[in-house]
Amino acid sequence: MAKEKKIGDSVGSLMEYRNLAWKCVRCGLCRGVNPEKMIHPDHWENCPVGTKYKFEAYFAPGRHELVRALTVDEPEVEVSEKMREIVFSCTSCGHCQENCHPIKGLEPMNVGLALKRHLIKQGHGPLEPHHVLIQSILNYDNPWMSPRAARAKWAKKLKDLKIKDASKEEVEVLYFPGCNDSYVPELTDVSQTTARILSLGNVDFGILGAKERCCGSTAFRVGALEMFEKYKKANVEQLNGLGIKTLVTACAGCYSTFANEYEGELNFEVMHVVEFIARLIREERLEFKKDLNLKVTYHDPCHIGRYGGLYDEPREILKALPGVDFQEMDRIREYSLCCGSGGGVKTAYPEVAMETARKRVQEAKETGAEVIVTCCPFCEMNLKDGANAESEPLEVVDLLQLVNEAL
Ligand code: SF4
Ligand code: SF4
Repeated sequence: MAKEKKIGDSVGSLMEYRNLAWKCVRCGLCRGVNPEKMIHPDHWENCPVGTKYKFEAYFAPGRHELVRALTVDEPEVEVSEKMREIVFSCTSCGHCQENCHPIKGLEPMNVGLALKRHLIKQGHGPLEPHHVLIQSILNYDNPWMSPRAARAKWAKKLKDLKIKDASKEEVEVLYFPGCNDSYVPELTDVSQTTARILSLGNVDFGILGAKERCCGSTAFRVGALEMFEKYKKANVEQLNGLGIKTLVTACAGCYSTFANEYEGELNFEVMHVVEFIARLIREERLEFKKDLNLKVTYHDPCHIGRYGGLYDEPREILKALPGVDFQEMDRIREYSLCCGSGGGVKTAYPEVAMETARKRVQEAKETGAEVIVTCCPFCEMNLKDGANAESEPLEVVDLLQLVNEAL
């Protein structure tokens, strides 16, 4: 199945994006789902932050107006707390760009990222809550203030698998769990499950353990470009020296960072685990034995969907699982609603993340599903928070958990 890359990030300055921002005609197409694809009018609006705050300034055209004002010879506005909120509350979900780019040729999400970098350069960022993340990455190579030595703690329970150390032994595939699936207690089972599935599929794989470091995604998305470049350089040097054919990750953020921000610099292919598992299923290397008897719906993470074009693979896997009744939500694939937590928003503006997650959970409930399935640690954590805030919570699971259960 050909993977069509939909959108990617860019590192351009605000001045480089000025011409694109000027071309915005404020038609509003970027605010909602393409009318031809819309099923229910309640699900039309699709910019999580604009929908939350309601003012035009928070939607893509409003950001374009800010660019106009900030890039004239004598800027017409002063950076205020409100402006910082407008700029840094964008989740970088890419929905506006998905709608605008094919028709008008503009890149509103990339403009939003350039705005974040611009404010940081002018000394108006990173935001205070992001300082903690950045300092932690600098001190520990992860945003969770956890020691490097604990990075592979999740693998300790899997001695029977005899997971190889990719820094010492030759392996075909490097499994790169990333910071969240390595350290966050509610997510380490994703790493354990991935390793078990790779093992069952007889994949020659290894991990870097304590030698793995952050991919730099968090730094990039909160606008800390210099720091991101430092991590990118170190990772490119280390990973290219391993002699691997493929890097597999179950984190949508790591996947999109390696596939987009490191593009052209790696000497191996980068795959999200859903691509890899779909391939194993096609090659008949996994045998599903258990009937799951479950009604599920699927939430497309922005970082493998709009950023990576991986829409079919997770659905292919769900349809291969015995006893799974799969129901689609209204907003899917290119028009999926962001979970609300990307771009450092869950840390800085938790109310935006929570409100968006609750909307998504509501939409999932309308399908009659018992479980929301996703395959991104950020989506999983945020949707779980949203689901638990409901009077009748809905279960949220990673797709790999279902695959593991069915095996
Ligand atoms: S960003 Fe694009 S789609 Fe949105 S208002 Fe401007 S021109 Fe229209
Ligand atoms: S990237 Fe997402 S959150 Fe940001 S302006 Fe575009 S649609 Fe809204």
